[in-house]
Amino acid sequence: MAILSCSVQLAAWPKEFLSRMQALLKEEFPEFLSCLEQPYFRGLRWNPLKAPGEPLWDRLPFPVQPSPFSPLGFYFSSGEKRVGRLALHHAGAFYLQEPSASSAVTVLDPQPGERVLDLCAAPGGKSTQIAALLGGKGVIWSNEVVKKRAGILLSNIERMGVANGVVSSCHPETLCSGLAGYFDKVLVDAPCSGEGMFRKEEQARNDWSVEHVQACAARQAVILDSAAQAVREGGVLVYSTCTFSPEENEETVSQFLERHPAYCLEDCAVDFGRPGRLPQTRRIFPMDGGEGHFVAKLRRTAPNEASPPMHVPSRQRKDAQMESLARAMAAEIFKREPTAEIQQVGDAFVLLPEGLPSLQGLGVLRAGILLGEGKPARVEPAHHLFSAARPESLRQVWDLPSGSPEIEAYLRGEEIDIPPSYRGYVGVAADGVMVGFGKAVQGRLKNRYPKGLRNLP
Ligand code: SAM
Repeated sequence: MAILSCSVQLAAWPKEFLSRMQALLKEEFPEFLSCLEQPYFRGLRWNPLKAPGEPLWDRLPFPVQPSPFSPLGFYFSSGEKRVGRLALHHAGAFYLQEPSASSAVTVLDPQPGERVLDLCAAPGGKSTQIAALLGGKGVIWSNEVVKKRAGILLSNIERMGVANGVVSSCHPETLCSGLAGYFDKVLVDAPCSGEGMFRKEEQARNDWSVEHVQACAARQAVILDSAAQAVREGGVLVYSTCTFSPEENEETVSQFLERHPAYCLEDCAVDFGRPGRLPQTRRIFPMDGGEGHFVAKLRRTAPNEASPPMHVPSRQRKDAQMESLARAMAAEIFKREPTAEIQQVGDAFVLLPEGLPSLQGLGVLRAGILLGEGKPARVEPAHHLFSAARPESLRQVWDLPSGSPEIEAYLRGEEIDIPPSYRGYVGVAADGVMVGFGKAVQGRLKNRYPKGLRNLP
């Protein structure tokens, strides 16, 4: 089929990209072309960490359909607007994620109790999916080398109620050599030429060139070489991209295997998508129900020569007075004292997950839950404390219907009326899912929803 015959809309697509796709897909190319003229797939992933039990579908203003890529993944209509403004989205009951993007974590298959590294993690779609599958047990270490993007990652980790996470912004080589052999599972969702994002992002289309594809492949090889160090013997390394080019997918994997005899390629063992050019790998095209993804599963079969980093008990000198203020603050908010150890890091107090190695020199922005920040003569509770809390663990929660005027006002950052029986720090929930908090004073709730998260009026 001649590319020249494609529609005006397709004329805006890079011609060389289309001829490469024609060579890749052969007789399926016309179907691919007709997909390109359709609206892109939209999806969400339900978050059992924040909203356990049956998903609250009746509280969403649109219907959803299950996706094949994850039991937690669903499609919704391309016409829906302002989904990110919904109270249940603010509450982290769901994460907006292109449906096929959930495929890599399904292949990774994290199990409760495992240590998992997501090396290229921002904005956090796959990290928060891993956290949901760990169910609060084990560690999800999310790293993003680009500092600005690491801030967005951290915000999503908070919103989705992750308590057993570490968020860092570190160069992959520094991080993986510092944590050599520490992880059961490592995900490299690599920066790529983004061909699977072309329907959605015009910019990605405009930036495309063969040179860019080659530069991405070279960068992916370097990232994978770093990642290889972090996996323990018998552990799994999953490599994924949202692009179609063989140079960034099967060729990157084959060359990695040549450089790293300690690894072998395993079957992805899933039934979505289709086998890639290496039959154990998986490819997803728009014809398979997603925008586009590639996944490969590698296992380290030989010992990791590096000894894993040791757990280092905190030797931080504690400020006894501040610590007792932090405990008093926690006692005011929680029904029971938190079981995790409260640790002081500078002026901040955190609830650390168990068994972490030394975090020194690894660009760590957050470990565990940020409980609060020390101020003169008090500790101010942090948003993360409430977003990661179970409502039943808190002394006071104001649970509002997700579409109510009160929750809408709260999400805009407004001060609102609250029954006068509430006093002091109060968690705010939407349909039973924690959103944030405020301070109740004489029938008014002073708003503490972080400014950067608020809905614009
Ligand atoms: N896994 C993320 C998710 O599901 O939300 C998406 C990750 S995105 C495909 C790739 C990430 O790699 C980007 O956030 C990008 O900033 C980061 N990145 C860019 N250059 C990198 C490098 N040299 N090493 C590691 N990560 C890099």
